[in-house]
Amino acid sequence: MTRDSTNIQKLHHFVGGRKIDGNSGRFGDVFNPALGIVTKHAPLASKEEVEQAISVAQEAFPAWAATSAGRRAQVMFNFRDLIRSNMDRIAELVSSEHGKTLDDAKGSTTRGLEVVEFACGISQMLKGEYSANVAGGVDSWSTRQALGVCAGITPFNFPAMVPMWMFPMAIACGNTFVLKPSERDPSCPLFLAELLKEAGLPDGVFNVINGDKEAVDTLLTDDRVQAVSFVGSTTIGEYIYRTGTASNKRVQALCGAKNHMVVMPDADMDQVTDAVMGAAYGSAGERCMAISVVVSVGDEPADALIEKLVPRLDSLKVGPYTEGATEMGPVINPDAKAKIENYIGQGVEQGATLVRDGRGIVVEGSENGCFVGATVFDNVTTEMSIYTDEIFGPVLSIVRAESYEEALQMINDHEYGNGTAIFTRDGDTARDFSDRVQIGMVGVNVPIPVPMAFHSFGGWKRSLFGDHAIHGPEGVRFYTKLKTVTARWPSGIKEGAVFNFKAGGEH
Ligand code: NAD
Repeated sequence: MTRDSTNIQKLHHFVGGRKIDGNSGRFGDVFNPALGIVTKHAPLASKEEVEQAISVAQEAFPAWAATSAGRRAQVMFNFRDLIRSNMDRIAELVSSEHGKTLDDAKGSTTRGLEVVEFACGISQMLKGEYSANVAGGVDSWSTRQALGVCAGITPFNFPAMVPMWMFPMAIACGNTFVLKPSERDPSCPLFLAELLKEAGLPDGVFNVINGDKEAVDTLLTDDRVQAVSFVGSTTIGEYIYRTGTASNKRVQALCGAKNHMVVMPDADMDQVTDAVMGAAYGSAGERCMAISVVVSVGDEPADALIEKLVPRLDSLKVGPYTEGATEMGPVINPDAKAKIENYIGQGVEQGATLVRDGRGIVVEGSENGCFVGATVFDNVTTEMSIYTDEIFGPVLSIVRAESYEEALQMINDHEYGNGTAIFTRDGDTARDFSDRVQIGMVGVNVPIPVPMAFHSFGGWKRSLFGDHAIHGPEGVRFYTKLKTVTARWPSGIKEGAVFNFKAGGEH
């Protein structure tokens, strides 16, 4: 449903430390998903507008790269304080455009904040390595230097956290940054740009440009952009990786997922049920680490889970974020709702047992909202589309495996490799699973094993294209390049002209 256009707020870009109106004449709809109406228009930048943002970031780079790491960290400390003091405003911006509950918005923003806190220690991480006297009078050291202009392209599902996986690390390392957030919920990233300015970040170091494919393609092909971080779906991520690397850029593209939770017969089923409630239905299943498949080893765990889960789903409070009691909000927009409901239809057609159907749910007072109720299928098989595809909604599939080996093989055969979990009391099984499963992030009795900011986040297989996971130590490596200096001073040993390589240590 579209509002009278006079009531629609026009959003902007943020370039060179100030808000800039879009001039392409193109706009994307931003919904309030709980109401199902368009409330804002995000400008969709033209190639020229993106090039202008890159120019601004390029001009800001030399001075920022030459700023001491300690001073750059000080900006991060200030930014951290500002996020904390503005947490309610950030959560309101996230929830009003994404639909998730305010507590969930605050929780995910806090996970982004942890990356900012990690970036506050950048001086320690850029220290480098030094070897004295590698040959007579010769010293050698390695250092990591900033790349230049870096770009970030982010998805709708975490408008605060996912950008914060990227730009705090990039900026702390001495780079400048152009962020192209999701056009579906851009207000929070725009507000973060204002906070960075208030934190003392020089103008032009961080820029936000709203847009779609035209903006992304410009970032991917402009020679001045050195590195691209992407988080989003696999189809787009693979395109980003291939196009960006063909233009000689570093690219990390974190992509889609289908995360399995293996439930062994010895698992604590109360713990499993709690875990499934949060991991499958939190944020309406719109998380790349959501659990969307439970693999029951034997029939017993599946039967017990359904018995415990169904009453919980029947009393789950689905509604708008403005209702304090809401546990699960809407999905992002009417297209997403239609796509998810279509998948539920396919599951029925393909022969899965529909235990709870979330289609057609009506929320009183939010009748046009993009709500999908919590859905569970049992007896799902690996050729069904509800098993193979990422649905990105509150739809859980239960697959019954005859053995642990069959469950493990199923996960290893799936195209995605983002996250997984095993629930068991048996240490041997958990250890074997952690070792042999072909997945980047593994939980043992932990349903959503998102690594802390001082580790790095990243999947395997078609969940990540590129050589680096994101944030943590991998973030420092991604956003810097290695330089090694070998130095001899005139007082060192003089050996005349040397025409041949010599064995290690001799120069
Ligand atoms: P998306 O791929 O549609 O969009 C991501 C970004 O790509 C957006 O900024 C969008 O504007 C841009 N984009 C869209 N179409 C494009 C095109 N044709 N050419 C160039 N750029 C384009 O993803 P989404 O729907 O916003 O987010 C959901 C997806 O993100 C899910 O697949 C989810 O699993 C994934 N995700 C992955 C992670 C992870 O860490 N692996 C984290 C969060 C979300």
